[in-house]
Amino acid sequence: MESYAHRNLDICSKDCLCLFVCPTGAANNETGQIDANTCTGCGACMNACPAKAITLLPKIMPKAQKKDNHVINSLFKVAENKIEENKILNYLLEKDPNNKLFKALLHSNKVILEDLMREAGYMLPQSKNTHEFLNKLKEAKIKQAEILLEKLKVNE
Ligand code: SF4
Ligand code: SF4
Repeated sequence: MESYAHRNLDICSKDCLCLFVCPTGAANNETGQIDANTCTGCGACMNACPAKAITLLPKIMPKAQKKDNHVINSLFKVAENKIEENKILNYLLEKDPNNKLFKALLHSNKVILEDLMREAGYMLPQSKNTHEFLNKLKEAKIKQAEILLEKLKVNE
């Protein structure tokens, strides 16, 4: 697979070893980033970098795979568990509103829930999946779903 080197400028310690080992000059670019067009993906810079700031990335990313239903169902099951956990955490927070651990767990569960939904194919608000889901919420008389449906047009 064809690849190119990417420099993480946040951890690059600017000792320039990559510039010395690069056979094509791709690592020496005015932007501070490696020139993907002249980089051959040989990896010499990555191996030389003492800060581990260089990673090889594929030039062409593989297409996203369609998820099997059993994977989606498993993601939903984990999400349901997180929702149940959140109900308990909300109850505990009513009793102890300043408890930092409960607050942190609640926040963490919300982030995990978002990731699970994204992984299950509900990433884009304008996707067909999301609209079907919002329509179910609308049928259950959830006003916010109705407002979102008006604002977000389907655009796969
Ligand atoms: S070798 Fe690594 S740390 Fe040094 S300049 Fe290159 S990327 Fe930055
Ligand atoms: S992978 Fe090779 S060609 Fe590309 S920047 Fe690093 S040393 Fe240069």
